[in-house]
Amino acid sequence: MSFAENEIKAEAYLRRFRVEGVANHIGGQATPSSSGATFEVISPVDLKPLAHAARGTAEDVDRAAKAAKAAFGDWAAMPGVTRKKLLHKIADAIVARAEEIAFVECMDTGQALKFMAKAALRGAENFRFFADRAPEARDGRSLRAEGQVNITTRHPIGPVGVITPWNTPFMLSTWKIAPALAAGCTVVHKPAEFSPLSARLLVEIAEGAGLPNGVWNLVNGFGEEAGKALTEHPDIKAIGFVGESGTGAMIMRQGAATLKRLHFELGGKNPVIVFADADLERAADAAVFMIYSLNGERCTSSSRLLVEASIYDRFTELVAEKARRIKVGHPLDPDTVIGPLIHPVHEKKVLEYIAIGKSEGATVVAGGVKVDGPGGGCYIAPTLFTGANNSMRVAQEEIFGPVLTAIPFADEAEALALANDVEYGLTGYLWTADVTRAFRFSDRLEAGMVWVNSENVRHLPTPFGGVKNSGVGRDGGDWSFDFYMETKNIAFATAAHAIPELGG
Ligand code: NAD
Repeated sequence: MSFAENEIKAEAYLRRFRVEGVANHIGGQATPSSSGATFEVISPVDLKPLAHAARGTAEDVDRAAKAAKAAFGDWAAMPGVTRKKLLHKIADAIVARAEEIAFVECMDTGQALKFMAKAALRGAENFRFFADRAPEARDGRSLRAEGQVNITTRHPIGPVGVITPWNTPFMLSTWKIAPALAAGCTVVHKPAEFSPLSARLLVEIAEGAGLPNGVWNLVNGFGEEAGKALTEHPDIKAIGFVGESGTGAMIMRQGAATLKRLHFELGGKNPVIVFADADLERAADAAVFMIYSLNGERCTSSSRLLVEASIYDRFTELVAEKARRIKVGHPLDPDTVIGPLIHPVHEKKVLEYIAIGKSEGATVVAGGVKVDGPGGGCYIAPTLFTGANNSMRVAQEEIFGPVLTAIPFADEAEALALANDVEYGLTGYLWTADVTRAFRFSDRLEAGMVWVNSENVRHLPTPFGGVKNSGVGRDGGDWSFDFYMETKNIAFATAAHAIPELGG
């Protein structure tokens, strides 16, 4: 489909949001905020309003939490095989509306259609993956001792809160919510205020596919209002949070009084480490993909490029050439790789970092400027800094935009020291032909996930999460169920063992 056709279709999909706004969804009903207040959602393409969303209050969160609590008993008691069928139906319904989801997501987030075209399929895959595991979610272990058999079993923890960021909201929401539902939990979802549209589609799709009312509730609004109230609500037993590290710290404080179980997927400043013996063409493609896809607004982006000194000039020039050829443009243009950044506030932050990098003495060899793109939105050219060192702010702080900072290293020891010398530890990408070094290095790299000779290729059964300031806990496979479920141990005596006779 052509860009022009995409624009017409997107407008048709967006019309309902312009007319109806983005309501909360509580107990199966679309509901306005209890205060009647709304906030404006703008498109990053032209900064014009897309919709008005309900500005959720503590009262709305309370109603949503009560709806989730009321729905919990029946949902948790539903046989896993029945839940499995229902979650597959949700996946089917997501696929059926893939185009609508993609176009709405592009216009709400600024992410390019090239990547968002697959968002619905990825989201559906998340549902199918956890659906298939629902029948076994409660299974446990049998641990034998002399005169005793222990049986562990898992139970859904209760109603949970899911708080998501604005970068790829559809995919991330499905990744967090599907395992909660498969485990037997009910959900209150608080999406990010910058891009709330696809969350509204998602809850509608789920109920349209047969999900009982109250199992999945949606409260829009600001973090310090609706988000905070959710983390403090006594009926909400756990919070699955994806967002900035600083927000995670706030949520930990907010959740303390009600002893919330917390799972955090936070920021990153992920290194891609390139040794001279690597396949440099492939390494360059992977580095470019990992920093410039999804507008660089990606927690797993490879935002630090550590390159062996002997190939530093050649390799950074290869990356710069590729970066200069990347098309920046309208998110609905099928050729666009980088769309507009989410919001003028974020664009300002990224441009400030580019200025900081220059003032720190790094050299811009690609990009470094705002682009006058279609609609006049928040476009920034893919940017590469060379001549940087690890103490610069552009090497230490998460920019969350299409900005890559390249630093040379002399040998393996220095590469490891530089890679680990940040507050974050989400992912690392290692490029070398030496398998022994690859093992030694990845073993010592402070990261929750490491890819060797590869970009980020997800395999859903593997654990996803970070160390240091990048997160607490793991998603994926059974790890997700461990978070959303309580484990109980039941010990059976298998013989008449001697019981201490205290008052006998
Ligand atoms: P953010 O922390 O500003 O907001 C995330 C969510 O938290 C939003 O819904 C927001 O409304 C809510 N929130 C804000 N303050 C809150 C509070 N006091 N209590 C409860 N909720 C509150 O993050 P963002 O700017 O939306 O997203 C970008 C960040 O997300 C980056 O740091 C990025 O690395 C991170 N991220 C991490 C992963 C991962 O898997 N590790 C994935 C995507 C994004």
